[in-house]
Amino acid sequence: MVEKKDIKSMTFSLLTRELAAQGEKSFRARQMYQWMHQKLAESFEEMTNLPASLREECGRQYEYTALRVVKVQESRVDGTKKFLFGLADGNVVESVWMKYRHGNSVCISSQVGCRMGCSFCASTLDGLERNLRPSEMLDQVYAIQRLTGQRVSNVVVMGTGEPLDNYDNLLVFLQLLTDENGLNISQRNVTVSTCGLVPQIRRLAQEKLQITLALSLHATTDEKRRRLMPIANRYSIAELMEACAYYFRQTGRRITFEYSLVGGVNDTDRDAEELAALAGPLGCHVNLIPVNPIRERDFVQSEASRIRAFRDRLEKNRINATVRREMGRDIDGACGQLRRSYRADAGPG
Ligand code: SAH
Repeated sequence: MVEKKDIKSMTFSLLTRELAAQGEKSFRARQMYQWMHQKLAESFEEMTNLPASLREECGRQYEYTALRVVKVQESRVDGTKKFLFGLADGNVVESVWMKYRHGNSVCISSQVGCRMGCSFCASTLDGLERNLRPSEMLDQVYAIQRLTGQRVSNVVVMGTGEPLDNYDNLLVFLQLLTDENGLNISQRNVTVSTCGLVPQIRRLAQEKLQITLALSLHATTDEKRRRLMPIANRYSIAELMEACAYYFRQTGRRITFEYSLVGGVNDTDRDAEELAALAGPLGCHVNLIPVNPIRERDFVQSEASRIRAFRDRLEKNRINATVRREMGRDIDGACGQLRRSYRADAGPG
């Protein structure tokens, strides 16, 4: 069977060409694009200002992705909601909705599973299943906006997966997400987080987007970083810092360093001094994340007093640092835990 084309992953210009090839006038492409990316329709049937014959023909020719809600967990502490969504092929992905004073933020997954192997992360324990398509990344945002009835203003690509390991799909997703004919989310309100794939960081710099790039650093020496993140065997911190400087020069956007504090591993004053030395020259903001212990590994969180001391030491070195509030800690907080617990219940799948 020939696979149907995925219509929601098409940019507006591609969709226009696609429908023109079928003899449709260009306003039909505009209408359909609006249904998909502004009105967030869940099927062709909803597109009531299109002729029924066109809707039927589209149904025959194209795949229209839609997510199934498998599970929703709401935090009693802060209202954070975690969604487990089912994809058409039976895989599941998780996304998180967080309410902040400045607006609602959604954290999406970019892959089913992950092959980066970071030692503290639950998303990678079973490796990579497959990449998500642009439509499947968009659907997480669209479904959450529909289900909550509230506008999503910020999107962070920090869920399961390494976004720069799914580069081409990520770029189309970013284009559609920030398109003025779609949800029109400002590029400045989008963050992409990477474990540090140097060639892709350089490539992304050349796209000259205004998104925020977050680098998961987690250690200040290659030796220590290798113990936490296998990717550190491939690229050194020196190479990473050069790529970050290049990104900053090309885009004018400051990079955020993410640093998960693991008790007794990377949380000493010396670590903080070394981190300040890396962040300072690039003007980076540092986001400290108290490690969220996962069942399969014996990492522990740093003491609250140690976390404060670490942050204070960064600030003494004039590094802008925040400790990430642990949103939704009572609902399978750490990346990949919800999907994992679901799969453990349901068996492999
Ligand atoms: N692959 C990307 C994005 C997904 S992970 C990346 O590596 O950046 C998003 C962030 O959460 C990363 O900084 C990651 O290292 C961190 N993270 C993953 N598991 C964690 C855990 N158990 N506790 C704290 N931070 C974790």
